[in-house]
Amino acid sequence: MSSIQISKVTKRFNDFTAVSDLSLDIAEGEFVALLGPSGCGKTTTMNMIAGLEEPSEGSILFNGQDLSATRIQDRNIGFVFQNYAIFTHLSVYRNLAYGLEVRNVPKSEIERRVRAMADRMSLVHRLDQPASSLSVNEMQKLAIGRSAVVEPRIFLLDEPLSNLDAGFRAYMRAELKVLQREFGQTMIYVTHDQIEAMSLADKIAIIDKGRLMQYGSPLEVYNNPANRFVANFVGSPRINLIDGALREEAGRMTMMLPDGGEINLSGQVGAAFAQIGSARSGSFAIRPQDIYFGESRAADDIAMQGVVDSLERVGPKRLAYLQVGQTLFLAIDDQDRLTAGDQVEFHLSADKSMAFDLKTGAR
Ligand code: ADP
Ligand code: MG
Repeated sequence: MSSIQISKVTKRFNDFTAVSDLSLDIAEGEFVALLGPSGCGKTTTMNMIAGLEEPSEGSILFNGQDLSATRIQDRNIGFVFQNYAIFTHLSVYRNLAYGLEVRNVPKSEIERRVRAMADRMSLVHRLDQPASSLSVNEMQKLAIGRSAVVEPRIFLLDEPLSNLDAGFRAYMRAELKVLQREFGQTMIYVTHDQIEAMSLADKIAIIDKGRLMQYGSPLEVYNNPANRFVANFVGSPRINLIDGALREEAGRMTMMLPDGGEINLSGQVGAAFAQIGSARSGSFAIRPQDIYFGESRAADDIAMQGVVDSLERVGPKRLAYLQVGQTLFLAIDDQDRLTAGDQVEFHLSADKSMAFDLKTGAR
């Protein structure tokens, strides 16, 4: 029972709608991330999948079956909560053994599986100590290990790494991916961190205000965002989003920047804006990676004149803020060729540019 079909699920708390008409198909063995800002309804969705909350409308099926009458402990779903529920007065060993003991697994088998899990979580030397003596990082490894040791067919993790420091988070991210490959469980992973979602998941469900914005692979949502919200939420450094009035003259589209300057919209992005029409405001989007300096590389690419406002080093590259009127474009200077204050010509790749309707956010 490890594929999950969420159909048209709505969850209301009194007159507040936390989740709205959400549908998701999750295949067996898939690693799906629920990604969205704080308060968008991720935990509420997890709680409904786990059976801790009832949908107000819609259904959740497991391999086509309704489990709402099945006791939660009999569903073979493991969860790691946002605030991990560790028995701090018990030893690390007993914490790891707990889920196996309540499932009546034979003692020798418990011993074997607890030791194997402690080993992979580097907690062997801690087995006899009370969980209360663990560091935050170890506590989190214990929370994950404790749920994973019972080898649930569905594994739900709600922001399991958000309390950890950056280095350890990266390590645990890799560890979780290995764990999932090994056990092949269906995994649903809640996070507000797009980097985490992009690096871990087979598919990402991006949620805003209780609504599904897009459901697709990391590459799909990055390369082909369905709307302005997704474009803005996914990718680092963050995408340039430039809003302005659209003007159409002799079939050519221009975006007027709010405080001086304009973008001559050519190629496919010009055509996309022509569809939106000059009666509306548009939102022009381009990733910093798709802005370049020097000679134009394609006939449709959009040439811009600006001033280098500031530069910010990030490892071997620098982020360059390029000012056109009062609008800033974020680009990447990977050859250290810019100096703050320089007049500079740069190009926006027309193929990589995106057009959104400012009002609806639709592409
Ligand atoms: P997330 O996990 O994405 O941060 P939640 O699912 O926890 O978001 O919450 C979504 C929204 O629903 C929030 O505005 C939250 O205040 C509200 N909410 C969650 N649980 C309850 C509840 N039991 N009663 C009332 N409102 C709730
Ligand atoms: Mg939450």
